[in-house]
Amino acid sequence: MKILTVLGARPQFIKAAAFSRALHQYPNIKEVIVHTGQHYDQNMSDVFFEEMSIPKPKYMLQTGGKTHGAMTGKQLEKIEEILLTEKPDVVLVYGDTNSTLAGALAAIKLHIPIAHVESGLRSFNRQMPEEINRILTDQISDYLFVPSLGAKQNLLREGIEENKIFVVGDIMYDVALYYKEKMVKPSWFDALNLEKFILCTIHRAENTDDIEKLSNILKGLELSRKDIILPLHPRTVGKIKQYGLIIPSNIRVVDPTGYLEMVWLEIHSELIVTDSGGVQKEAYFHNKLCVTLREETEWVELVSSGYNTLVGSNSELIHSTLVSESQNKITIKDIYGDGNTAENIVKILESNQ
Ligand code: UDP
Repeated sequence: MKILTVLGARPQFIKAAAFSRALHQYPNIKEVIVHTGQHYDQNMSDVFFEEMSIPKPKYMLQTGGKTHGAMTGKQLEKIEEILLTEKPDVVLVYGDTNSTLAGALAAIKLHIPIAHVESGLRSFNRQMPEEINRILTDQISDYLFVPSLGAKQNLLREGIEENKIFVVGDIMYDVALYYKEKMVKPSWFDALNLEKFILCTIHRAENTDDIEKLSNILKGLELSRKDIILPLHPRTVGKIKQYGLIIPSNIRVVDPTGYLEMVWLEIHSELIVTDSGGVQKEAYFHNKLCVTLREETEWVELVSSGYNTLVGSNSELIHSTLVSESQNKITIKDIYGDGNTAENIVKILESNQ
């Protein structure tokens, strides 16, 4: 069997690490990786391939740095050419980026079955480009691999046939468990001289593309007077410069880290503040409470179980929640499976060939 995997953004590299590793046990399955180049530089892309031993992409496209339409269109055109040459049995896509949608669209037009990993998530906010990518990809996928029963319910509500939906757990849990043993302390950490810190990430367009929201978030973080480490996404760096915002002095901005350093920071933080989907779950996987800089989340189970508090971009709420949330240990309850998601997916794909 030949699987053609389309990926292009940081969270997809991380998910791919688990899937490609699971394939080692299946010499009869060949994986061809197409990297769309949506994220392309050393600290947003190369570092993950290097430190997580992700197989080198056979095809490296250059579709980053464009508007959504231009990027998706370019990806669609290029992926179609590759599919015509490679003739895979299945196209596998992850998550909710433009690369996910372009990979799925290119495949369906050529009648190639589509496997969507991390299917069924919904924020119910159609202003988010990710929400549109998810809904459309799910509608045309043949194997919908969902992390939870809630995600399955979302798909059934949208009229997707039950026999296409597979509750397999969350592939990021596989990654979190495996790489916990290999985490690395960032070389710059000791120089910061911090006893305790909060780890923060901000990159979601709804926050970065709105000067008021972004400045309110910075204000809320400042009011907390907590030491905060902020590995800053290139999109957010650009917007802060464009808006002329000043980063408060209790926030230590660092470059985006590799995954092994990120796990170290997550595990050693007292609390995690983020608008990232992946980081919300990693907080839970590593027994940390999470404060989420969004009005809603796709990972609703974490909110209803009390692990995650939604604060949007309200500076007072950010401030008070950061101060009130203590370093409580939480006990995780296998909401997202048992860490064998990649293996579950490979078995299902193989048995359906
Ligand atoms: N991540 C990382 N270094 C960073 C920030 C995030 O390795 O500086 C990892 C993080 O641990 C998680 C993934 O990137 O596994 C999340 O990606 P991102 O926040 O870009 O996307 P989202 O999950 O929101 O789609």
